Amino acid sequence: MVKITSFTTRDVRFPTSLDKTGSDAMNAAGDYSSAYCIIYTDSDYTGHGMTFTIGRGNEIVCSAISLLAPLVVGKDLDELTADWGKTWRYLVSDSQLRWIGPEKGVIHLALGAVVNALWDLWAKTLNKPVWRIVADMTPEEFVRCIDFRYITDAITPEEAIALLKEVEAGKQDRIKEAEQSQAVPAYTTSAGWLGYSEEKLKVLLKESVEQGYKHFKLKVGGNVEEDRRRLAIAREAIGYDKGNILMVDANQVWSVPEAITWMQQLAEFKPWFIEEPTSPDDILGHAAIKKALQDTPYGPIGVATGEMCQNRVVFKQLLQAGALTVLQADACRVGGVNEVLAILLLARKFGVPIVPHSGGVGLPEYTQHLSTIDYVVVSGKKSVLEYVDHLHEHFVHPSSVKDGYYVTPMEPGYSVEMKAESMDAFSFPGEEGKSWWRSEEAKTILEGPRIV
Ligand SMILES: [Mg+2]
Repeated sequence: MVKITSFTTRDVRFPTSLDKTGSDAMNAAGDYSSAYCIIYTDSDYTGHGMTFTIGRGNEIVCSAISLLAPLVVGKDLDELTADWGKTWRYLVSDSQLRWIGPEKGVIHLALGAVVNALWDLWAKTLNKPVWRIVADMTPEEFVRCIDFRYITDAITPEEAIALLKEVEAGKQDRIKEAEQSQAVPAYTTSAGWLGYSEEKLKVLLKESVEQGYKHFKLKVGGNVEEDRRRLAIAREAIGYDKGNILMVDANQVWSVPEAITWMQQLAEFKPWFIEEPTSPDDILGHAAIKKALQDTPYGPIGVATGEMCQNRVVFKQLLQAGALTVLQADACRVGGVNEVLAILLLARKFGVPIVPHSGGVGLPEYTQHLSTIDYVVVSGKKSVLEYVDHLHEHFVHPSSVKDGYYVTPMEPGYSVEMKAESMDAFSFPGEEGKSWWRSEEAKTILEGPRIV
């Protein structure tokens, strides 16, 4: 038996704003960051979880982790995992903390880190990767991981069990495919950041094509003429008839009418979908955009969102409103593995493919498990998953892509255990002589004008 004895939280920030990695129409200069949670036990096992942020405010998420994590200290891991749905409900039921949510915002970002640390710990004690734990569950055990309270109008536990049983027949074959790293096709945004020059865009796209990628995503929404130029460059590189798929992402910059008219001007480049056209809370707005773009002279443009959707309740309504072509849940903006499982079931019920949000730092390490779970256990259908090739070197078991597919993680855990030396080297505000944030170079960010 493993008992949780204590926890710690770390504020780790990578200075990605220096080279504009991650820049888009809404986020000019992010410093990819991790609000990190480590759970210690009376054994050698530790659980590592994190939530992704882009810099300022990461310390607030760390503070929220410090308020939530005591709820599991002193508990036996077996007791927490025996009825996961009940445990998850317990973790969102501290009424004083619930007041600053509920189940949304900073407190929910913190919950994602804590819940995922518990899954990492559990997976290590079972000597399995997280995806494999779920793949080995019966439909009844899977459903017991979920708090159904706010979603039974869309899916009941009984319905969920029936849906999972429908795809059980091929599960063992899909597990074998996963073991051969053929479960999760990857796509890339490496070329598409808005702050990159057109020359850099050309070179990176060419590289991506050569690496075997079939899906390419570009940021849009800064200036429509520039968008048209960049999309023309992209289509020149990937073609229209080579099976290559283009996606575009506006990161919430538009009102609903702006989204419609802007995208009509990009329709000739035939994007599969527009990601985050408007506010992530605007369920009916997304539905209106999807309806308006379903019939352009160049074919339909779909609508995708999810990286900033707060919880399963918002996803439920997006699906009920017919607002989504693709659902892009985040691994730690919602409350960890358990809530993602609920969202995967909802997506399956409504027949919408999932493409988890997977840029940032640590997200691909998480989402490779989630997409594998979706393919093997929930939908039985292959989707795609974003892979951004940076910052993986800081992880003990970094995610990677080979021949256009994610290499399925086989090490026990949830794959976001960060190297101790990386945590020290990028800890914020950090220790003198240890952290980059105490260096001369850091002054360009710390003392320069704030880029909002
Ligand atoms: Mg996005």
